Amino acid sequence: MKINKNYENLEQSYLFSTVAKKVNEYTSKNPDKKVIRLGIGDVTRPLCKAVVEAMHKAVDEMGVQETFRGYGPEQGYDFLRTAVQGYYAKNGVNLELDEIFISDGAKSDLGNILDLFDKDNTVLVPDPVYPVYVDTNIMNGRKVLFTEANSDNCFLPSPPSTKADIIYICSPNNPTGAVYNKTQLKEWVDYALKNNAIILFDSAYECFISDNELPRSIYEIEGAKNCAIEFCSLSKTAGFTGTRCGYTIVPKELGKLNKMWLRRQTTKFNGVPYIIQRGAEAVFTEEGQKEIKENINYYKENAKLISETLKECGIWHVGGKHSPYIWLKCPNEMNSWEFFDYLLENFQIVGTPGSGFGKNGEGYFRLTSFGSKENTIEAMERIKKAGF
Ligand SMILES: *Cc1c(COP(=O)(O)O)cnc(C)c1O
Repeated sequence: MKINKNYENLEQSYLFSTVAKKVNEYTSKNPDKKVIRLGIGDVTRPLCKAVVEAMHKAVDEMGVQETFRGYGPEQGYDFLRTAVQGYYAKNGVNLELDEIFISDGAKSDLGNILDLFDKDNTVLVPDPVYPVYVDTNIMNGRKVLFTEANSDNCFLPSPPSTKADIIYICSPNNPTGAVYNKTQLKEWVDYALKNNAIILFDSAYECFISDNELPRSIYEIEGAKNCAIEFCSLSKTAGFTGTRCGYTIVPKELGKLNKMWLRRQTTKFNGVPYIIQRGAEAVFTEEGQKEIKENINYYKENAKLISETLKECGIWHVGGKHSPYIWLKCPNEMNSWEFFDYLLENFQIVGTPGSGFGKNGEGYFRLTSFGSKENTIEAMERIKKAGF
């Protein structure tokens, strides 16, 4: 037996364990101090009423002979795929039902999609980045190149002059919160078409976009159906991080890839539970949309407050507008961990050091809006009072 040696090439991530260790040390030394966590990368608001009711109803159906369901279609029930189709149509994107694949979340599909691609492909990933893109490719033994995201390009890198085969784009971005506009995204689509490359577009945060001019789907860009697979998730938009449901779009224009993905899923995946898919369907109803917007607006209010406070303090940052994330430049030339310690010790605020997301993240810091409104207000008041 020979193991997959590629796993030895993975870098150990100590980011969140080091954060937890430092916070524990601080709280045990300072038990009377209230620590506010603005590093949370998970939603905190509960599922909306429409979703809960739909799931209750589905549970009851499963307990009755006439409406019981066993194995479902691996690519998802028609009722949910039709709901996703209708959702895209509202943004002017027309999809066929068999281009829509229901998944248990974007992370699994982003990793699993690599089954369709040869090892001998050059992968292009922005730095800083959501770590899943890099690690899944390293596990497969694929070479990864980076595009530089930095303050010069406002963390929205343009296509390079060199050739790549598989390109990852996440917009609105985690960790930076930066969002591509249509012109910038068109440059990537043109680059992919010219190089016969594929874009893996992660739109997990599309619901946070409130400007109609900004693309929520890559298919709003002409030509994208010929070069892009899109991954979306109800995790951040509808609070499904623990409930698990997402969807992946593989257009027919991509030729064999659509049938290959169907074959891959029918072989290795047994679909998302019926009860969960009924809950997901409810997200796309008028009532569901209204209710999830309330939660998204709650987070966006927090993000706005953080962004405004940083502006008042003269801190350079991106994000916070069409995203739950705020990405700031550490003041006084501090590096990411120095600023982490400084925030914790002086303001009892916890964030995430940017250096944990790639080398270009050094000197930057991520704050999130997933905390409670009360805590976010209190954290910002502490900062405003003292300044940096
Ligand atoms: C949270 C997140 C996802 C969603 O992952 P799920 O597996 O659907 O929960 C995808 N991409 C990015 C960049 C994320 O931050």
